[in-house]
Amino acid sequence: MSLNWTEIEARGARGEGISEAEALQLVTLTAPEDIEALLRTAEAVRLAHKGKAINTCGISNAKSGRCPEKCNFCSQSAHFSTEAPVYAIKPAEEIAAEAQAAFQAGVREFSIVMAGRAIDKEPELAVLESAFRQIREQTGMQTCASLGLMQRPQLERLKAAGMQSMHHNLETARSFHSQIVSTHSYDDEVQTVKTAKELGMYVCSGGIFGMGESWAQRVELALDLRALDVDSVPVNFLNARPGTPLEGHKDLQPLDCLKIIALLRLVLPTKDIIVCGGREQNLGHEQGRMFEAGANGLMLGNYLTTAGQDIARDHARMEEQGFVIRAPPHQPLPPSVPPAIRAEGTDLAGLRGK
Ligand code: SF4
Repeated sequence: MSLNWTEIEARGARGEGISEAEALQLVTLTAPEDIEALLRTAEAVRLAHKGKAINTCGISNAKSGRCPEKCNFCSQSAHFSTEAPVYAIKPAEEIAAEAQAAFQAGVREFSIVMAGRAIDKEPELAVLESAFRQIREQTGMQTCASLGLMQRPQLERLKAAGMQSMHHNLETARSFHSQIVSTHSYDDEVQTVKTAKELGMYVCSGGIFGMGESWAQRVELALDLRALDVDSVPVNFLNARPGTPLEGHKDLQPLDCLKIIALLRLVLPTKDIIVCGGREQNLGHEQGRMFEAGANGLMLGNYLTTAGQDIARDHARMEEQGFVIRAPPHQPLPPSVPPAIRAEGTDLAGLRGK
């Protein structure tokens, strides 16, 4: 049975994702004409739901290292000997200043990321509350945080302080998770996602690809993300860190990365698909095609423990392809935000030289 691209595109434009059987067939494609048809279809579906607007994310690594958890891809785990920085939570003012700088560079969703199993005590919660308030008042950016396994009372409190999005990756497929993470379970990850969804938060959840999982397991993860109705899928490609158990591991080619992005677009046609860590190392010369493959967002600037690429190059790439930066979309902006920031999209030419 060959895939009916016309029909898949029509269904995708209506917001209907492909079936498991179609997804499993899609990931076997290798012939150049099939890959071109796949990318053409994924791009059409992205255009139908996202137009020419790109989500831009930035992060603060607000608390780094000495994490008691054991995730084999992560250089911040205390179980591994790595060169990741180690420090306690930054002051709220420092986090807000990083957010301001990111805003000037075109970032419109800013995430506070903290190493650790969970954030559940003072003074960390109070620092986060203050940082969220400052970021909302000073920039109007979408606020996000990635804080480990979260309980409902803490999330409620942070939401009240202005946290709009919650990021929490499932990391990988359920059937592969125990080979990557040994200190908490896949169900723990799922419960955090469900709690944030129940609170009406915009939930950003995806994984890291290229850790040894099979194509069927990539499909499995995509289907689970659809079942959880996550709002946004961050797509990371393994950039194996020295000192971690995955050191030296590299099994993705640029074409594999494009197929993973297209798979996610066609399984989750209406959702935000955001390309994050490892894109430089894994997509390489094909980075220019990540939007064609169906992505509608990217992380700008540095990642958690590794340097990102020059933001000006990302701006140039988006501008060349006729994109604008999407304004914060998920919650009305407070009246203190200047009108210019309320525009539908930010013209990339306007960011030049900042
Ligand atoms: S991924 Fe998060 S929970 Fe896992 S070791 Fe790294 S910081 Fe800790």
